[in-house]
Amino acid sequence: MSSNSPDVIVAGGGIVGLATAMRLLQRLPRLRLLLLEKEASLATQQTGHNSGVLHAGVYYAPGSMKARFCVAGRKALLEFCAARGIPVRVCGKLIVASHASELTRLDELFARARANGVEDVRMLEATAMREIEPHVAGVRALHVPSTAVVDFRAVAQACADEVRAAGGEIRVSCAVLGLQRRAGSVIVRTNTGEIETKSLISCCGLYADRLAEQAGAPRDLRIVPFRGDYYAIRASRAHLCRALIYPVPDPRFPFLGVHFTRTLDGTVLAGPNAVLAFARQGYERLDLNPFDLAETLRWPGFWRMAARYWRTGIAEMWRDYSRHAYVQAMQAYLPALTDDDVLDGPSGVRAQGLRPDGQLLDDFSFFASEGVLAVRNAPSPAATSSLALADAIVDEAQQTLSTLA
Ligand SMILES: Cc1cc2nc3c(=O)[nH]c(=O)nc-3n(C[C@H](O)[C@H](O)[C@H](O)COP(=O)(O)OP(=O)(O)OC[C@H]3O[C@@H](n4cnc5c(N)ncnc54)[C@H](O)[C@@H]3O)c2cc1C
Repeated sequence: MSSNSPDVIVAGGGIVGLATAMRLLQRLPRLRLLLLEKEASLATQQTGHNSGVLHAGVYYAPGSMKARFCVAGRKALLEFCAARGIPVRVCGKLIVASHASELTRLDELFARARANGVEDVRMLEATAMREIEPHVAGVRALHVPSTAVVDFRAVAQACADEVRAAGGEIRVSCAVLGLQRRAGSVIVRTNTGEIETKSLISCCGLYADRLAEQAGAPRDLRIVPFRGDYYAIRASRAHLCRALIYPVPDPRFPFLGVHFTRTLDGTVLAGPNAVLAFARQGYERLDLNPFDLAETLRWPGFWRMAARYWRTGIAEMWRDYSRHAYVQAMQAYLPALTDDDVLDGPSGVRAQGLRPDGQLLDDFSFFASEGVLAVRNAPSPAATSSLALADAIVDEAQQTLSTLA
């Protein structure tokens, strides 16, 4: 290995890769670290296309990595943002039961929030709920005052600044294409040539499964891209939502249902929905990458999921194509909204791990083998959790990658 080969390469310049690189250098300041990002800029994928919500930790199964890292990550991120002057607005959130049939699930969420250490949640009757959001309809709501909004791109950029300040190198427009092991080293093949290193940590978001499989991970998980389209509420009607209004989630599809989010710049977004994307970076409805699509369609888990949930999928696609249908769904929460109040908004694509049996992989997941640690699944709330997740990745790397011990 040449004397200027990096000790470790981090692949992926989203919030998870950048936070991991920052934490590695904080723990091991003498490490020669190189971060590779395939796009021309950092944080252009999931990190740059999300709701910007700093989740409190209400939803996740107690004891799961999501539950633990969301609560710890939120706290760490608030401190990180305060120290670096990154704006955060702690605006709170209402999780609204629009029908009595949702009350049992709302009670379960309340218990779950407590179990996860989210102390400040309160159950509100309809009158108290409307003191917080005067235009909302529903029978009862959970109020989560600690939920906040932030710009995760700004957080990712701040992590990148820290990496550079600590001596790490960040190279953009450099895609990792493959890897090989040779005599205790990892040879990382990129579009600009081969780089030899002792360790590779992959945080590749929508492409996480590809590098993990090259590292030797079993073929038991496929990343399936789910596009989420937003509508923006016209500025003159944005007063209808003061902060965040969320539905009671269906435990089978935690990311479905109409959400309203007042972002940091004051825009109120409705969405995101979730429809199958025909390309891993398919931000537009007609974006199609034949290779990506074939990979999804060849995955047995996709067909098992489709067979079980085709009705939900078709309803979601219908609302994606029909603004009127989507507005009708919004009216369950904000009855004063009309079709004229909504404009097309941005879109994001979620990287969601899907098992061969058609079940979504809910929790975060890693795979480690012979000099490589790959993050396999880092869906929401990975942005909120990023600093705690990065700590866990570095812990795992120090246990499994001998050169980082
Ligand atoms: C619509 C939507 C809304 C969301 N809302 C929230 C929210 O409100 N709160 C929250 O906490 N989370 C939210 N999330 C989830 C959150 O955005 C992601 O979990 C998080 O950004 C994941 O970060 P990442 O670094 O793993 O992935 P990414 O941000 O996708 O970064 C991965 C990076 O790796 C690069 N890359 C990929 N392959 C290669 C390669 N071979 N070589 C080099 N580079 C490569 C990509 O270009 C990309 O920059 C949302 C996600 C979406 C899509």
